[in-house]
Amino acid sequence: MDIRVEQPCPQCGGAVTLSASDRLLTCPYCGIKNFLQADGPFRYSLPGNVDAAVQDQLLHAPYLRFKGTVFLVSETGISHRVVDTTQAGFPMPGLPPSLGMRPQAMRLARLSAGNPGRFLRLSVKAPVILEKVARIHALSGKDGSRLYHRAYIGEELSFIYLPLLREDEMLVDVVTGDPLITLAKAASYPLKGSPFNPRWQVKFLATLCPRCGWSLDGEGDCLVLTCSNCDTAWHLGRSGLERIDCRIIPGGLDTAIYLAFWKISAHLPSMKIWSFADFMQQTNQPVVIHNDWRERVMSFWIPAFKLQPRMFLKAGRQATVNQWRFDGDQEMYVLPNQYPVTLPFNEALQAIKVILAASATSPENIFPYLAGAQTENISYSLVYLPFEDRKHDWVQPRTGVVIAKNILRLGRSL
Ligand SMILES: [Zn+2]
Ligand SMILES: [Zn+2]
Repeated sequence: MDIRVEQPCPQCGGAVTLSASDRLLTCPYCGIKNFLQADGPFRYSLPGNVDAAVQDQLLHAPYLRFKGTVFLVSETGISHRVVDTTQAGFPMPGLPPSLGMRPQAMRLARLSAGNPGRFLRLSVKAPVILEKVARIHALSGKDGSRLYHRAYIGEELSFIYLPLLREDEMLVDVVTGDPLITLAKAASYPLKGSPFNPRWQVKFLATLCPRCGWSLDGEGDCLVLTCSNCDTAWHLGRSGLERIDCRIIPGGLDTAIYLAFWKISAHLPSMKIWSFADFMQQTNQPVVIHNDWRERVMSFWIPAFKLQPRMFLKAGRQATVNQWRFDGDQEMYVLPNQYPVTLPFNEALQAIKVILAASATSPENIFPYLAGAQTENISYSLVYLPFEDRKHDWVQPRTGVVIAKNILRLGRSL
């Protein structure tokens, strides 16, 4: 479900409401576009009805929000679950273990330097929280089957703070007014907290092409912006907009849409996978190995857009196994029918071993070795593939990758 965030326009101050997954703010009043850049996950607070006089006595308790897919590779196969949850990140009894439906029902405010009060430290580490999320959703392989690999492909990872106040010897949830724990009991927890950390401040970045100064194109949930003037593609890196090596495979006259895949080249030495030929052999594909496949570095082709997990696995597997059919790629040029990139590279990277597992025709040769496998020599590019319009589906003619149109629409708002 979508979480809405209040975000005043940094140029004109106009009141804008964004989706929590939006990275690009296009102001309806002044028309100016800004990219939102944060050092780490975005941070929000639930709105509490608090008297101005006591605002700086607020204590903010951290929750981790994870929205995405958990994939599990176990003895019994590959399972997956779409998860959207908040989990308490401060281990104090009395705090609600999760925020439930509250983030969806309310409009969140982004934390900024003006936020009064003190912030409790997220002291339960994110991996521990994610592990718990997997357990809650029965993705722990606990039914007696062996767990080989678990991957979290996130669409959103953020912190949401619940405001608390000390009232009448109690710590009170300001949103509901419920008392949570007596101050005497809470005294053994580090309730001092710290003020707003300037590092948390979201920065706004002009969406001008760093190469030619032209205005970049993209919609709110778009993670890659393109320049139609100099035909380049950009995403947010640590130091601002960074250029992506971007290619396109020109389609025929029937091409209706271009969908992008992250092409991630990697070696998995412990599984003896260096070349595409190695991959085809290790996963036991029922095809004759071509000689030139031994020279071709192994690449994993991961959909660069949100998709239902089942379709994500299938599209990734088909594109990866059939990558030898993609020749004749060119430097990317901007076309009006390029579907937006909504899955960032860092998340696609988490999918490598899952797509490897999905490609295995004999799981016993692959699954048990996933846990210890390291990926090395990683390099990546973004490749737009042409798809044709076949009634209810988009079809990639060279590889047979089929993506149902309604699923692609659904994925956008997933
Ligand atoms: Zn504005
Ligand atoms: Zn440009």
